[in-house]
Amino acid sequence: MQILPVVVQWFMRCIVCQKYSFPLICTACCQTLLVPSLTTRTVEKEFKVYSFYRYAEVAPLLKTKHTHIGAAVYRILAREAFGWFKNNFDFQERITVIPVDDRPKSGYAHTAILAKALENSQLKPRYGTLHATSDVSYSGQKLAFRERHPRAFVYRGENISKAIIIDDIITTGTTLREAKKVLEKSGVTPMFALTLADAR
Ligand SMILES: [Zn+2]
Repeated sequence: MQILPVVVQWFMRCIVCQKYSFPLICTACCQTLLVPSLTTRTVEKEFKVYSFYRYAEVAPLLKTKHTHIGAAVYRILAREAFGWFKNNFDFQERITVIPVDDRPKSGYAHTAILAKALENSQLKPRYGTLHATSDVSYSGQKLAFRERHPRAFVYRGENISKAIIIDDIITTGTTLREAKKVLEKSGVTPMFALTLADAR
């Protein structure tokens, strides 16, 4: 019987370095490739977006998003980046964490995975509250297209004060600007946004 060794071999290699590893990404790769390095962008006056990685550094991992290993890869990225954030910043108050458009696609919602990794006694995710009502795809599209075709977000959450907005990638910033405006109209004050990667 050759099946078992083949299956074990296939499952037990790090997808980055290909060395034998029980986790999908080995500890050594997490400790080198996935150490967060915060970058900042101001997408609207006073509103900052912090990203943990530069897009090019983690692009192959982000591209697993809609594959069969996407959820597992996003859980690792979430743990290394958002988990690091919650352990290093103390807000001294309760803040709501709002994932952008966490409708499940390919069986899971990638922004919900990121928001969950932030959860602690201060940071409280609220799922299913900020959804797009347009399914326009921004992939490969320029700023002008994105601004002509809004995501048409609707906020259905409770009346809260401060929030952190969560998304996986910032490209032009159009999505986060729109999300921020919709939240503000509902009386929410977005403090800043967190994204895994900055594609600038
Ligand atoms: Zn590795």
